[in-house]
Amino acid sequence: MANLGMTKRQLHVAIFNCAEYGHVNPTLGTVKELVARGYRVSYTTSPEFARCIELAGATPVLFEPRVTKEKPLPENLAYVNEEFAKEAYDNYPKMMLAFNNDRPDVIAYDMFGWHGKALAYLWNIPSVLIMPTHVSYEGIFEEWHSIPLDKQPSPPILEKMLRDNDLKLPIEPFMADHENVIAYIPRSFQEKLDTTDPSTVFVGPDIEGRSSHTDWTPPQTDNPIVVISLGTIFNHQPSFFHTCIKAFADTEWHVILVIGRYTDAEGLGELPPNIEIHRSIPQLEVLQIASLFVTHAGMGSVMESVYYGVPMLAVPQMAEQRTNAKRIQELNLGKYLPRENITAENLLSYAREVKTNPNYQQNISLLQKEIKCAGGAKSAANAFDRIMSTVANSQ
Ligand code: UDP
Repeated sequence: MANLGMTKRQLHVAIFNCAEYGHVNPTLGTVKELVARGYRVSYTTSPEFARCIELAGATPVLFEPRVTKEKPLPENLAYVNEEFAKEAYDNYPKMMLAFNNDRPDVIAYDMFGWHGKALAYLWNIPSVLIMPTHVSYEGIFEEWHSIPLDKQPSPPILEKMLRDNDLKLPIEPFMADHENVIAYIPRSFQEKLDTTDPSTVFVGPDIEGRSSHTDWTPPQTDNPIVVISLGTIFNHQPSFFHTCIKAFADTEWHVILVIGRYTDAEGLGELPPNIEIHRSIPQLEVLQIASLFVTHAGMGSVMESVYYGVPMLAVPQMAEQRTNAKRIQELNLGKYLPRENITAENLLSYAREVKTNPNYQQNISLLQKEIKCAGGAKSAANAFDRIMSTVANSQ
């Protein structure tokens, strides 16, 4: 860690994020660690996240998100990218005003925080991409968006953001190049690692940095617990939840079924006594008592499951999650069950296989060791220290 003395206490980190749990949660440990090291941290996000950002020690700088949770998003990442590009376009002038008289010393931006990256360019401030998932690899656009980069709807919007704000920066390097990259995953989980930017700092997840919930009462059962969740976004899947109920009803499992905000709970009918249903759960606490996680394989959930040593049955809902599910299967951390193939019978038999085969547990232990060495929030904060030491030296 660089010794920046008193100067470091005055340095200001601004984090530009979107308003999604899978993007905010992985960064909270870093915020805590930066604050503990004496940095001042500002954090742009929506009112929904203001409290958790304050608890982590940062000052929230709020915007009203364009991408809301009023209705389910289509499972189409090109569309999702387009919506976030529009949000960045709207946010650029607002955030320029918010920070113009309180300029950061470094800007950290999420994969959807393009306006933060543009402000770093405008103010000639060092910047760092903070990735909650895989960093860019060969073929990622075709794999995640079904269409190549030059046919994507988001670049013209971002190009307009640059043009309308007099930023003379070509769109290709603006989108593709990053001064620094921190990824909240371990190296060995990265897809096609050999095709990624070799300077990426893979710090792994930081789980402990999140504040814990105190109102969770664990179920009173000696039976193995399976947690079933499709995360916070692409989770409007009543027929999947029906299949889960059919699969696990009156079996040896105790089921914690998380249905999200969109699915009609009553439509799922009367539940057998071994199944409890929730709209959301304190996932970190619940994973600590789980024997199996039937998960959509959102990266946050995958990392949390590995962290707590829970093998997974991955049922991905969209392209990035399919990449994660593939990695789960390749690294033997669990199994990939494509949603088109699910039946109550194979769900139950896969669940039993993943829980009882020690191979999965052994491979999870290996990845846990790698995560420990990767350093999480401490390594992320070290990367900020290194960037900041160049700022301090140039002052
Ligand atoms: N989460 C939670 N309770 C829930 C559902 C999700 O605390 O009921 C958290 C979970 O721990 C993770 C994040 O929300 O940190 C979801 O991120 P992930 O990348 O797994 O999936 P997404 O919701 O973005 O699809």
